[in-house]
Amino acid sequence: MKFETKAIRIQAERSAHREHSVPIFPTSSFVFDDAEQMKEIFAGEEAGNIYSRFTNPNCRELEDKMAALEGVEDAYATASGMSAIFSTFLSFLEAGDHILSSRAIFGSSYTILTKYLPKWGIDCSWIDPNDPESWEKEVRPNTKMLFLETPSNPGLDVLDLEAAGALCKKHGLLYCVDNCFATPYLQQPVQYGADLIIHSATKYIDGQGRVLGGIIAGSKEHIHIVRTFCRSSGPTLSAFNAWILSKSLETLAVRLDRHCENALALAKWLAENDQVSRVNYPFLETHPAYQLAKKQMRKGGGIVTFEVKGGLAQGRQLLNNMKLLSLSANLGDTRTIVTHPASTTHAKLSEEARMEVGITPGLLRVSVGLENIEDIVNDLDQALSASKA
Ligand SMILES: *Cc1c(COP(=O)(O)O)cnc(C)c1O
Repeated sequence: MKFETKAIRIQAERSAHREHSVPIFPTSSFVFDDAEQMKEIFAGEEAGNIYSRFTNPNCRELEDKMAALEGVEDAYATASGMSAIFSTFLSFLEAGDHILSSRAIFGSSYTILTKYLPKWGIDCSWIDPNDPESWEKEVRPNTKMLFLETPSNPGLDVLDLEAAGALCKKHGLLYCVDNCFATPYLQQPVQYGADLIIHSATKYIDGQGRVLGGIIAGSKEHIHIVRTFCRSSGPTLSAFNAWILSKSLETLAVRLDRHCENALALAKWLAENDQVSRVNYPFLETHPAYQLAKKQMRKGGGIVTFEVKGGLAQGRQLLNNMKLLSLSANLGDTRTIVTHPASTTHAKLSEEARMEVGITPGLLRVSVGLENIEDIVNDLDQALSASKA
């Protein structure tokens, strides 16, 4: 089956009601026919659900589908993207280990790596997202994992997945990719040797700004380790949210085609605007990693960033002058959303740390939605005109 077909046709087993669309299973536990069956399911000798912290049919459907779309054997669904990232670290790392991470990562991932993992004796050091040649010298004898995000949030750095794969193979590192911005439709990290592919399903997988969720996908062996850890620690996704997310995957490909088409059109329009000093989009020829993006991504994604000439003050004015587009912290929604990373998602970082990942004071991030592109452009046009530097 092709991508779109898998996203629609991988379904939980039908019940006696012969429903076409899979129902929701809001149950905390499951019943057994007799003591023998109970014993066998508990012992893992017979397949079956026991308790929704361990497995639930809606979570299982989402996991099966995400594993198939990422091209791996198995997956585990969690309550948020951050619980997926945190559970991945805790499942595989122990005191004395070292993790190498890209500098250009989501703000909360940075907080976990710098504030919490060191408390448990796990050290982190940083690689320059744009200089793969420099990565190897950062590998230490106790380095266990490489963690990266591409394209990155919000700087849109595109990291070389093939170079990272070669490095991990050579040094026996667990290779983890936060694939949130690309989704498996635009990019499949497993083709470059990634061991664990992580998602904030809250973003494009839901795609309509309704629920939070996370995914960890990988080999049977790796996901068994994750599942065993999560079974005890409990970052479980609810049946309802799993149902929403699995339904959403049915339209992932068509939604992303339009997100990418709108984003490219907006990026081209912004590049021509005299109030804008810089536009960043992986599939614009002016992106520093344009060739690499073309190689490892099907399309450029739904996020565009730009810098207004008047810096912080004009950026703030622009947000206040928008009439249609939303000021919100989410991304990957049907609605176009504009944010100002320096004062919101990345406000906890020092100015210096922000500059290192390209978050300048006047940087705006647009999560380009599915409205008609003319309405998106018109709103930004009037807002830019009303806030001239
Ligand atoms: C939003 C986001 C996360 C965190 O996901 P939540 O679902 O909000 O917990 C992690 N990584 C990236 C790249 C994100 O954009």
